[in-house]
Amino acid sequence: MAHFIVLLGPPGAGKGTQAKAICEALNIPHISSGDIFREHLSKQTELGKLADGYIKCGQLVPDDVTIRMIGDRLKQADCANGALLDGFPRTIAQAQALDELLRKMNARVQTAISLNVPAEVLVERLSGRWSCPSCGRVYHEVYNPPKQAGICDEDDTTLIQRPDDRAETVRQRIEVYQNQTEPLIEYYRQKGVLVGVDGTQSIEAVQHDILASLAGVR
Ligand code: ADP
Ligand code: ADP
Repeated sequence: MAHFIVLLGPPGAGKGTQAKAICEALNIPHISSGDIFREHLSKQTELGKLADGYIKCGQLVPDDVTIRMIGDRLKQADCANGALLDGFPRTIAQAQALDELLRKMNARVQTAISLNVPAEVLVERLSGRWSCPSCGRVYHEVYNPPKQAGICDEDDTTLIQRPDDRAETVRQRIEVYQNQTEPLIEYYRQKGVLVGVDGTQSIEAVQHDILASLAGVR
């Protein structure tokens, strides 16, 4: 059976950080809506330019374009075995659209992992976040530093700080999360697929809890 896993959590909860281990354990691709938007932006496509206007001010990109983009990605051959969705869905409309897309593939969301981290911690995490623009790997200057400051361990690329990680935009993104995305926790709880994980623990402890919660589906 295909493994479609949703990773829910506010900005800075650790979704990107945890994605790799989950994907390796289940042998599924990592689909990050934020990474796909940023890739479009770096190539200056129409979608990238449109998304940039929303990303810059911490708002969500409209559902119709976002749903179409993820729908196209799910049609690619590597998703036949499932996928880890990181940052999608972020609204009830997106969650319903995902259910419909998966229904057409004879699949469904098997587990929705909600990484719980309080707002105070998120600002500190995001202000110290550095990421690799080439491979997407995420670091933190205190909690998860690269071997050499400012350089990606994986491919030696110079790390960057995301413009939307400024404290002001972060506060806006957290508010958007609370208003538009948090209702998804109840949505998946009602479907009986929700798993809550304490995201304030160390990176290793969070990974352990996530993999333990997925043991039944592997
Ligand atoms: P984080 O990893 O900090 O949660 P992302 O990289 O997932 O942030 O998202 C960055 C920005 O991209 C969001 O603030 C939003 O503007 C846009 N975005 C990403 N995913 C979605 C989505 N599913 N729906 C609408 N906008 C999205
Ligand atoms: P998200 O994808 O949910 O926005 P990230 O995975 O990018 O979150 O993590 C945000 C920042 O917090 C990064 O700098 C990352 O290194 C750091 N981080 C992630 N998980 C933890 C953790 N458990 N403890 C401390 N810092 C963490």
